[in-house]
Amino acid sequence: MKSLWSDEAAAAFNDDELGMRVYSSKLLGFDENLVMHGGGNTSVKATTEDFFGRTVEVLYVKGSGWDLKTIEKAGFSALKLQDTQMLAECATLSDPDMTQQLRALLLDPSAPSPSVEAILHATLPSKFIDHTHTDAIVTLSNNPQAARILKEVFPDCLILPYVMPGFILSKQVSDAIKRDDPKDYKGIILMHHGVFTYSDEAKVAYESMIELVSRAEAYITEYGSTLAATAEHDVDLLDLARIRNAVSLARGEAQLGVLDRSPDAQGYSMLETVADISSRGPITPDHVIRTKRIPVIIDTRPAKGVPEIDRYVTGYKQYFEENQTAQLQMLDPAPRVGIWRSAGSIAFGSSLRECSIISDIARHTRHAVQIGESIGGWQALPAEDIFALEYWVLEQAKLGKSTARKKQHQGKVAIVSGACSGIGNATCEALAAEGAVVVGLDINPEVVSQLGCDGTLGLECDLTNSKAIAVAVDHVISLYGGLDIVVCNAGIFKAGERIEEHTELTWNQILDINLTATQRLMTATIPYLKWGIAPSILIVGSRNYVAPGPGAAAYSVSKAGITQLARVAALELAADGIRVNIVHPDAVFDTALWTEETLARSAARYDISVEEYKTKNLLGKTITAANVGRLLSTMASDVFTATTGAQIPIDGGNDRVI
Ligand code: ZN
Repeated sequence: MKSLWSDEAAAAFNDDELGMRVYSSKLLGFDENLVMHGGGNTSVKATTEDFFGRTVEVLYVKGSGWDLKTIEKAGFSALKLQDTQMLAECATLSDPDMTQQLRALLLDPSAPSPSVEAILHATLPSKFIDHTHTDAIVTLSNNPQAARILKEVFPDCLILPYVMPGFILSKQVSDAIKRDDPKDYKGIILMHHGVFTYSDEAKVAYESMIELVSRAEAYITEYGSTLAATAEHDVDLLDLARIRNAVSLARGEAQLGVLDRSPDAQGYSMLETVADISSRGPITPDHVIRTKRIPVIIDTRPAKGVPEIDRYVTGYKQYFEENQTAQLQMLDPAPRVGIWRSAGSIAFGSSLRECSIISDIARHTRHAVQIGESIGGWQALPAEDIFALEYWVLEQAKLGKSTARKKQHQGKVAIVSGACSGIGNATCEALAAEGAVVVGLDINPEVVSQLGCDGTLGLECDLTNSKAIAVAVDHVISLYGGLDIVVCNAGIFKAGERIEEHTELTWNQILDINLTATQRLMTATIPYLKWGIAPSILIVGSRNYVAPGPGAAAYSVSKAGITQLARVAALELAADGIRVNIVHPDAVFDTALWTEETLARSAARYDISVEEYKTKNLLGKTITAANVGRLLSTMASDVFTATTGAQIPIDGGNDRVI
């Protein structure tokens, strides 16, 4: 590990001590071998002025919710230093008392909650304190030979056995430094947890961290090795959908299943010993809230029902029963990491962000486990210590459990056709706003740039080509693990096509895109939807089916065709729990089907203004693509759980339909 310190860059932050604290914290946050996803914390002791202009000594410590990589001055909470140090002198301090007292010592009551290690930071006498959970050092401590190895590599460090973080750890360190002056040591190694370095100079504290980590890395390079092979196997995506379904049922809500097929993930999954070595525990207990204590090991070809997940759930319940001490409520028993033999590693989560964090930790873990195994044997903390952290209130608080309404489609995967504009585009937005990961298909390549943020992805796809549809659908499954919602929306409309004017070309084109492409998309997605969570197919029909008008023969026939297709699908798929429903929109003018010119022509036909034409319905309402998108999103939700084969108009009320 190399020091990233630059005197030149540091000078830009050197307006005060907190500025320097921001600079070197970012350097630590920059390297994921030092800290990952909000892990680690830093502090600086300085003086500031209180409300009355008096100079007070404070501890600026990382606030919870901030990541070292992106931290700013506002991410540090200022605590009254002496009073914070006094807390370490308490014989005992409960978690609620510690949280309350630390909040009471904040200079600004609206500052973020200070790190759970705040008291420890206050206790160490140096100005700058750096703390990381670096893989390399923790890996050396997860070993039956840890005492010997750590002594050999860190003869100039204070090495402390594992205790629970928070007040107990602060107390352990504060007692230890009464016996041994920390200034005689380069740092403090906390077994199975991490490392502290410190100095009155930001640069020295940071570079001590780099030096200690480098030593651990050098030891690993000399004595350690990883075995990961690189063979590549094909995976059956239907198996992936089955696994993801079983995990979702175990968690009680839809989960994304993000498969990592990197050579290193596949190689690890193929190790003969993988079930043994990966089931001994995490790198550090801090990871347990993200990944659970151990992953689930899934066979190469999971059978129907994936018994591995059932066994994992039983095992988790047993672990809970064996370790619970107070009246605790069991968390969900579903795995977060799956090691799928010969296929790779799967991260299960409710959002892409959660999956990405889990995937990162899984990658670091499989590396550390192999290294540990090669230097004397991987040995994580006993299950009871991991349990204590998993069920520690202050740790659970890090997940930021919000009391906000759970989004209806959280953890679900949706495909919407004709997504580049109009109703398709609005439906993507409506589904994504409710938490779904949405893939929009369109023949227009602009769909890629139209979508692509806030949980949406645009894929160029020719819906008149069955192969192209199959490739797109498989791509979706390989990215997210399954499929729950399909919205068949793509359609074209050619006004003024009377029957006697229709050419074979336009007739076939309209039927191919509006009708047959709907069948193609349904045929390609149904096998996956059968393993979806509360799966639902939605068909965008048209008022023209119920109340046709002259001059749109092929369009009306195509919409009648997909309506009939949907009704048959509702009959065929009910036994698999797949709901199939239809909306019949009318007069939705903010779509690609309508131009200013066609609007003006239609209004002129009735001898009314465009504005009057737009609201020519019983309710006198303007109907937008967003209205239709929201209706479709609601129909995919559990509000419609008992409805299938329904046809719902969204047309402002039409006397010909009613
Ligand atoms: Zn820590």
